[in-house]
Amino acid sequence: MVLKVLFLASEVAPFAKTGGLADVTGSLPKALAALGHDVRVVMPAYESVERAALDGRWALRAVPFSLSVPMAAGAIAAGAFEGQLPGSQVPVYFVAERSLLARPLLYGYDDDPYRFAFFSRAALDLVVAALGWRPDVVHVHDWHAAAAVLWLATAGQDDDRYRGITTLLTIHNLQHQGWASWNLLGQLGIVTHPLREEPYGSINLLARGIYHATKINTVSPSYAREIMTSTGGAGLDGLLRHRHADVHGILNGLDYDVWNPATDVNLARRFNLRTLDRRPANKRALQARLGLPQRDDVPLVAMVTRLDAQKGLGITGHIVHLLMNNAAGEAQFVLLGSGASEYEAVFRHLAGYHRQKMAAVLRYDGSLAPLVYAGSDVFLMPSLFEPCGLGQLIAMRYGSVPVARATGGLADTVRDGVTGFTFSDYDVSDFWEALRRALYIWHHDHGSWRAMQLAGMAMDSSWLTSARSYQQLYEWGMASAR
Ligand code: ADP
Repeated sequence: MVLKVLFLASEVAPFAKTGGLADVTGSLPKALAALGHDVRVVMPAYESVERAALDGRWALRAVPFSLSVPMAAGAIAAGAFEGQLPGSQVPVYFVAERSLLARPLLYGYDDDPYRFAFFSRAALDLVVAALGWRPDVVHVHDWHAAAAVLWLATAGQDDDRYRGITTLLTIHNLQHQGWASWNLLGQLGIVTHPLREEPYGSINLLARGIYHATKINTVSPSYAREIMTSTGGAGLDGLLRHRHADVHGILNGLDYDVWNPATDVNLARRFNLRTLDRRPANKRALQARLGLPQRDDVPLVAMVTRLDAQKGLGITGHIVHLLMNNAAGEAQFVLLGSGASEYEAVFRHLAGYHRQKMAAVLRYDGSLAPLVYAGSDVFLMPSLFEPCGLGQLIAMRYGSVPVARATGGLADTVRDGVTGFTFSDYDVSDFWEALRRALYIWHHDHGSWRAMQLAGMAMDSSWLTSARSYQQLYEWGMASAR
């Protein structure tokens, strides 16, 4: 059966991106379309999108009508642009409203909850009322679009055009929840009761999405379990447990058009499973580019990451210190990352001390990252929590063996002793022990090391498998909503 699915998200690659959310909303619709489904995507027209529409970039066009979005303060006039996800026929619409949405940053404004509630309401109005396209499923992503679930389940039930539409809420990161003042409900024309999670006078948009969505999922099965516990639940575990029968976990895929060592133009030498012997040219190129000695006989350990506490940096500084002091034999270390200044300072300091064997590149560099994946022997991902994680998937596809903490999506994708090395406790000694095991095999058992590289490279991380799981979840949702 062909399903009509409407994606609502605050970011979609390549139009606007701050994190993995945009990668999902930019690739999953294409994979669903490839399965034959009819998918449309709506996101806000930020300032950069409005500029792109003027410049002709991405071939965006203004839709030939205007919207009058009903909010309590009075109807707000809005427009929309229309385009397609690059490399596909999937339509993308951009809700355009100058004062609320067309701002230089995606997030970080005091009125973010109001902005995104307006976006959610306007997106439904645009697609369902104005374009007359009634989806089978409205698939919303994170708190920014959760107001659509809330509205559909309450006020929207009084309108024939919206009644009975199935909703799926995907949680990409439970830490961001969208707290707003109670007035927001009035703005949306919703009369309802407070949730247990909401202190007097406040609402939590993600909690309301969880409360009302037909189905809920996160981006890995392990993270789906973790968020139902008090340690991983960020205050919403009780609500999630209440809905546990409807909470699922589906791993993110990798966009194989982008992440492919056989075609990646950023590599010094391209390779695949059968030509793994060409891979070391990338290690030499990486060493040369970063001013490290070009040596094949020492392992090159690497990290590519946002410098955020979530990524396990609290236990990484000491590990790098041990590694650079030859506690597991000679090694090189490369970090590509940017973010919190305290972590940048740690790596800058260590790199300054160990110039001959360590490089810290403290910026976002999309063309250097592939060379780090292809040129490193070991890839570190000691995350405190990890909803899914793309770094380990890319590393494995590029023949770098991950040493990862078994949490969330890392626990679901890195198989200890088969495709990588894992550790359980968030502490330095467990992390060090896993890294030592990896380096021991790298030094002493070349055959096993190669087998692990090949197992990682052969792993199926394509979107196709995930898209099939989403299709099933949509169908379950529609069956339970009937
Ligand atoms: P998250 O979305 O939490 O940041 P993921 O592992 O899901 O973590 O995705 C991280 C993505 O961002 C990967 O594609 C990684 O290569 C990329 N990335 C992170 N930091 C950098 C950087 N400094 N330079 C280039 N790419 C980076």
